Amino acid sequence: MLELKNIKRSYKTGDFVQHALKGIDLSFRQNEFVAILGPSGSGKTTLLNIIGGLDRYDSGDLIINNKSTKKFSNTEWDAYRNNCIGFIFQSYNLITHISVLANVEMAMTLSGVSASKRKKKAIEVLTKVGLEKHIHKKPNQLSGGQMQRVAIARALANDPDIILADEPTGALDTKTSIQIMDLIKEISKDKLVIMVTHNPDLAKEYASRIVELKDGELVKDSNPIKEEEENKKKFSIKKTAMNFISALRLSFNNIKTKKGRTIITSLASSIGIIGIALILSLSNGFKLQIDKFEKETLSQMPIVVTPTVMTTDEEAQKQAMEQYMNKNNGNSFTDKKEIYPLISVDSLVHTNHITNEYIEYIENAKEGIIGAISYMHALKLNLLYKDNNKVNMLDQTTMMVALPETIDGKDSNIIKDNFELIYGKMPENSNELVILVDINNRLDASILKKLGFGDKEIINFDDIIGKEFKVVLNDDLYKRIEDNFVVNINLDELYDNENNITLKITGILRGVEGSKFAEYSGSGICYKEQLFKDVIEKNDKSKIVEKQKKVNYNVLTGEKIDEDTKETLLAALGAKAAPIMVQIYPSDFNSKDELTSYLDKYNDDKEDDDKIIYTDYAKTITSLSGNIMDAVTVVLIAFSAISLIVSSIMIGIIMYISVLERTKEIGILRALGARKKDITRVFNAETFIIGLFSGLLGISIAMLLCIPANIIIENLTDLKNVATLNPIHAIVLITISLLLTLIGGYIPAKLASKKNPVEALRTE
Ligand code: ADP
Ligand code: MG
Repeated sequence: MLELKNIKRSYKTGDFVQHALKGIDLSFRQNEFVAILGPSGSGKTTLLNIIGGLDRYDSGDLIINNKSTKKFSNTEWDAYRNNCIGFIFQSYNLITHISVLANVEMAMTLSGVSASKRKKKAIEVLTKVGLEKHIHKKPNQLSGGQMQRVAIARALANDPDIILADEPTGALDTKTSIQIMDLIKEISKDKLVIMVTHNPDLAKEYASRIVELKDGELVKDSNPIKEEEENKKKFSIKKTAMNFISALRLSFNNIKTKKGRTIITSLASSIGIIGIALILSLSNGFKLQIDKFEKETLSQMPIVVTPTVMTTDEEAQKQAMEQYMNKNNGNSFTDKKEIYPLISVDSLVHTNHITNEYIEYIENAKEGIIGAISYMHALKLNLLYKDNNKVNMLDQTTMMVALPETIDGKDSNIIKDNFELIYGKMPENSNELVILVDINNRLDASILKKLGFGDKEIINFDDIIGKEFKVVLNDDLYKRIEDNFVVNINLDELYDNENNITLKITGILRGVEGSKFAEYSGSGICYKEQLFKDVIEKNDKSKIVEKQKKVNYNVLTGEKIDEDTKETLLAALGAKAAPIMVQIYPSDFNSKDELTSYLDKYNDDKEDDDKIIYTDYAKTITSLSGNIMDAVTVVLIAFSAISLIVSSIMIGIIMYISVLERTKEIGILRALGARKKDITRVFNAETFIIGLFSGLLGISIAMLLCIPANIIIENLTDLKNVATLNPIHAIVLITISLLLTLIGGYIPAKLASKKNPVEALRTE
């Protein structure tokens, strides 16, 4: 049941108002073939569009199924167009980038019919119009007559009750026109067909009723509905719903027709992603390298307690810095006749008073967190070396290094993991020494000179193994003369003294390949901690030490000394004193934090002067490099982010152009019953595809670029596979790319859905 009541429609262009329809009253039967005749511009198309729900009337009413359409919702109009109406246009209005089959399926796609059902029905109607052989062709591969058949098949696909045809044969030759008219006549057997034409012969020959329009007014009706006629049967209207997958398919097909542009667009918009991905791979890679380096090497670097250290007191540091910058409360170049104190940099230096209590504290640390310890004592060994029957006094401090040992005096894993004995045997007793050479088997030339190899270029292992030193004890070296002591300078006599401790070189040690720790550890003569313990044990009871403990002057020079100097002097002579320096090796990477917090805890209840400030070189190195990496990464990402935003604006523009290009398609889809939402979906689907594609493209290109980047880095730094993209970063970046393009495409998609379907159909 379809009825027009005083329908009016006018168009305003500027100040001019064109009354296209001036109050049309017209009813249609459930089943008839109505031809609407009239000269061009008489309002035929306008009337048809209003009947089909494609255009809206200004006033009057359109009654469908006894119901006024004045309050029809958008959904109701969409449903009405989709499955109650089938449109046939003069210019066919097929979607050119999809197949004949897909065109016919479209109305069903929009109403959510399943794929298999859709295909079956589409083939059925295409067979009916004689196109079963052409279903996979694109519309532009067909003749005009064939295209109009496709349009008819499409109009029939959803089994509508009403077919609206606007000059369906207007663009066809006579012979083809007859075929098309026969087809429409056939359809009209069980449907209401309303056909607009300006050809009266055609109307007379085929139509069962002719309605004539002139200047927007109904001037003739050959078969109006009489009052007594039964006309109550209802048309069926079902709701429509296109799903996102269909929208994706439609957009994908559209994108396929412009591959070149899509690739260039995606490429351009992927540049930001490429940039960020590369930066992330590099910084991520470098961080991994640093971590690895840290785990392998730096964690094995000892925490060192040195005699003096820069203070950690931030206030003092700030003050010193200000003084350094010559800021003095605005007194620079002052005219005041005043002098101000300058605080010396000494105030920045903290002296670590290592006490036996501290040593005990360290040695009582939780088992397993300390891998090894080595101490440096103030004691100066009185070392003698005999070369070619000539006895020399040696300075041990420049040539001897302590082997890191476990707390109970055993060899530590630090030694086992990083060094190998390449000749001789490892020292077992305190009087055995081992030579540590570097990876090129080199040993400090000055040490070699002292050992009597000063003029040799090459020294055989056998020549150096077995070399002996004598440690002369205090009571033999220092002779008492009244209240003072003098050094016995008869070195030959001293050398042969039976109280001496004989030290012997027993082996040669070298770092293992790949151990960074060994690479940095240098060379020298290594001794066991026990050696110093033994000497201190003996020298502590020596006459010179006992005397020195009692008096306030230097027993060797007679010079007056203060308490601090006396301590230092006693320690150097071998009195029992705490070491002056301690190196603590964490047992592994994981125990390091536990160790440092244990050491920090020592200071908790201490006065500033009694605090022991350790130096953690590994941490200084890593936090420095880590901070720099982070800063550089942030800056670079910020730059790339700009290109990401630019590319999303670009996507917006591209989408806008696409909307303009696809205006006709929007019109067709709307005529077929697409909701505004469906149109938004179609364009969102397009941006989705482009966004996803450009994201994937960006990630792929970045991953490819990592290959040459890694080759370059390997050439420059020897580091392998630095640039590696974290998969999580890749996923996040693709998601960002998708989101940004969707935002960029959102406005154009909204714009598209708001297009007036009638105007959209008019565009070429
Ligand atoms: P017909 O199909 O009978 O040739 P139309 O229904 O297309 O005529 O047009 C009726 C009148 O309305 C014409 O004078 C036409 O110029 C005018 N008209 C149609 N559409 C518009 C529009 N979108 N804007 C302005 N005027 C229009
Ligand atoms: Mg027209």
